[in-house]
Amino acid sequence: MIDVQKIKQDFPILHQEVNGHPLVYFDNAATTQKPQSVIDALNQYYTGYNSNVHRGAHALADKATREFEATRETIQKFLNAEHLEEIIFTRGTTEGINLVAATFGKAFINEGDEIIISSLEHHSNIVPWQMLCEQKGAILKVIPVNDNGEIIFEEYLNLLSDKTKLVSVVHASNALGTINPVKDIIREAHKIGAKVLLDGAQSSAHLHIDVQDLDCDFFVFSAHKVFGPTGIGALYGKKDLLNAMPPYQGGGEMIKEVTFEKTTYNELPYKFEAGTPNIADTVAFRHALEYVNELGKDFISARENELLTYATEQLNAIDKVRIIGTAAKKVSVISFVIEGIHPYDIGMMLDARGIAIRTGHHCTQPLMNRFGLEGTARASFAVYNSLEEVDKLVEGIKRIIKMFG
Ligand code: PMP
Repeated sequence: MIDVQKIKQDFPILHQEVNGHPLVYFDNAATTQKPQSVIDALNQYYTGYNSNVHRGAHALADKATREFEATRETIQKFLNAEHLEEIIFTRGTTEGINLVAATFGKAFINEGDEIIISSLEHHSNIVPWQMLCEQKGAILKVIPVNDNGEIIFEEYLNLLSDKTKLVSVVHASNALGTINPVKDIIREAHKIGAKVLLDGAQSSAHLHIDVQDLDCDFFVFSAHKVFGPTGIGALYGKKDLLNAMPPYQGGGEMIKEVTFEKTTYNELPYKFEAGTPNIADTVAFRHALEYVNELGKDFISARENELLTYATEQLNAIDKVRIIGTAAKKVSVISFVIEGIHPYDIGMMLDARGIAIRTGHHCTQPLMNRFGLEGTARASFAVYNSLEEVDKLVEGIKRIIKMFG
């Protein structure tokens, strides 16, 4: 039996008071906090072996390279990718999607082709495709959602055609928590020869990810949502596909040979990793994933489900609260509105009691429009949160409703 208090001890930031109250951190979908092991890894890198990777002929560069590449191996196992070179370091989910839009888009998207996304997408899985469509004269199609915030699968099937070249969907929604039926989405897309990208920004911390079992063509995620540092993430792509795609940025590291007449490109994964990478954060990323592996995804998701179920029951019991996003399968995100009270005011008033939630459109404006809302208040839970903290949230909400009469 894992002791939750013990888990909380691993996260130094959680032991502080905010506005005179013990911090309750419920903004985990925006970014998670970092365990001491991740903070230590950053410190050790800069105090012990800061050096540029891959090129050095000295001990520090060798150690930096080994630590840097060890993270790639850990990510390979974390995603169950078949080949190590299928793991490309990026700045995060956003850059991963932009990389695919720029390079897969350049090679494989032509005028009249169609790209399918869903109504649940984060702006980072909308805008790069709009930009690409504009460039190429391609067409963006959107799978609608029902009132529970679940995609309407028949509508997806109707959108698929021989013009569809790519389906790019979120694995789990940051705004509503909905877990998409990605295996079914992928199977249907593959039947007509389209490729599929999964936005794993929210799923990677909560769900078992097995890219071979899912059979997705691309999977992108960010370290900072999985207890790791900001500014680093990964793109998984099937090897043959990555090999068939042109490079992303040009510069050092991504080349084999350069002359003024012609440049040849490096092999995977380096072909997509131009310039000096974010070494310190990459090194620390491994420690974040090891932290998750030690707890185990089964434990993490059981704990988070308990928090989600409890919070949902408690909020449903309050008359003026309406939960937005009532899908049957959700990650631990609970979006809600309170009749007559602006989400921003909810956020401010909870903050006054040390409770950190997020308010607004959550970078999903089209989804908010679908529900006729400007935004919601969102609490999102991680494994270090407790039922007692949920009680504080519920008590805070009741107090706000009372104050607003
Ligand atoms: N997609 C989803 C579902 C997200 O939640 C986020 C982060 N809020 C992103 C994409 C973008 O991730 P990042 O800002 O780390 O690139």
